[in-house]
Amino acid sequence: MIIGIPRESRAGETRVAATPETVKKLAASGKHALVVEAGAGAMSSIPDREFEAAGAKIGNAEQALGADIVLKVRGPAAEELPKLKRGAMLIGLLNPFDAAAVQSYANTGVSGYALEWLPRITRAQSMDVLSSQANIAGYKAVMIAANAYGRFMPMLMTAAGTVKAARVLILGVGVAGLQAIATAKRLGAVIEASDVRPSVKDQVESLGAKWVDVPYANDEERKIAEGVGGYARPMPPEWMARQADVIHERCKSVDILITTALIPGRPAPKLIKAETVAAMKPGAVIVDLAVEQGGNVEGSELDKIVVSNGVKIVGFGNLPARVAADASALYARNVINFLALSLNPKTGEFAVPKDDEIIKATLICENGAVVPRS
Ligand code: NAD
Repeated sequence: MIIGIPRESRAGETRVAATPETVKKLAASGKHALVVEAGAGAMSSIPDREFEAAGAKIGNAEQALGADIVLKVRGPAAEELPKLKRGAMLIGLLNPFDAAAVQSYANTGVSGYALEWLPRITRAQSMDVLSSQANIAGYKAVMIAANAYGRFMPMLMTAAGTVKAARVLILGVGVAGLQAIATAKRLGAVIEASDVRPSVKDQVESLGAKWVDVPYANDEERKIAEGVGGYARPMPPEWMARQADVIHERCKSVDILITTALIPGRPAPKLIKAETVAAMKPGAVIVDLAVEQGGNVEGSELDKIVVSNGVKIVGFGNLPARVAADASALYARNVINFLALSLNPKTGEFAVPKDDEIIKATLICENGAVVPRS
């Protein structure tokens, strides 16, 4: 079989779905040929010759997209769809929440596997692209904030006097939020954090941050807050209003605010109103990691820095793409671990285990039809 690795075509997408390390593993059995589109790794600092040395051929878009197994980061663009081969296996972040996109993949006759829908079970952890990429986003958010902030992060005692440590608030403490806490801690900031899910409090405290509590009014609110499958659910408006009041007060003294709150398949919850931004100190920095899902912060704009009353609101999308080499390395390992369910890298044997719960959960289209979500 031929395994294709196309160059990502989406604007600003610097990642690639395979690296020389994973190509070498996939080529090891000698049973499969690998075609990497010329320049596919360039933005991740991987020259074509390194893919060749690992056992791949360098080809064009037709060859990479026309393979039997196509490894992608993002779903193919409209102009790439006719290049896909009927019956091929397509693996990537296919955005399963976009019904029109899923239908367009189905129309090509490929078997599409959307890695966003990997179940959060122990066996799937090594394939979990959302976690590996969110980890990077959390790290980069702090780097971006530190860069945009006109002061030091750590407390410093100098001959010219003492500099105060930056106060950082992190809202939404999933994978990205936890990494943001750890990164800000390494830089010496004083950190507070909050999330809707009560189970997160211990994790926040174990990283040395202070938990900001938003009380639940009743058992029903507490139950919703526990979420489902590791993910949050939308909270009732009464809780959101209580959260907004608590966060508004905290924001008055915060230097850096990083928001990462997401609810799968829905617009990001609005946590920060314009009046809260207006109450923040001039020079404060907000990084809204949820900007691509509509944003947690009123006034944040995709791929822009908006300055409002001296507060910078950074709305850069796709932060993992700004750490391209490591993001690709981790993504590619996730992909090969997922592919290993069907393709044994050592023997080269290929058989898709249709009954495997990971395969069933991620399959979005097959034989020309969209697979309904169970
Ligand atoms: P996510 O990216 O979907 O959301 C980010 C965070 O936003 C979550 O912690 C969520 O609770 C929070 N949030 C949503 N609405 C909010 C609101 N209104 N106010 C405040 N916070 C809000 O989440 P994620 O990073 O993908 O991870 C969620 C959880 O899943 C984490 O606890 C993570 O450790 C866990 N996880 C488990 C596995 C596994 O067991 N295999 C794998 C990956 C992640």
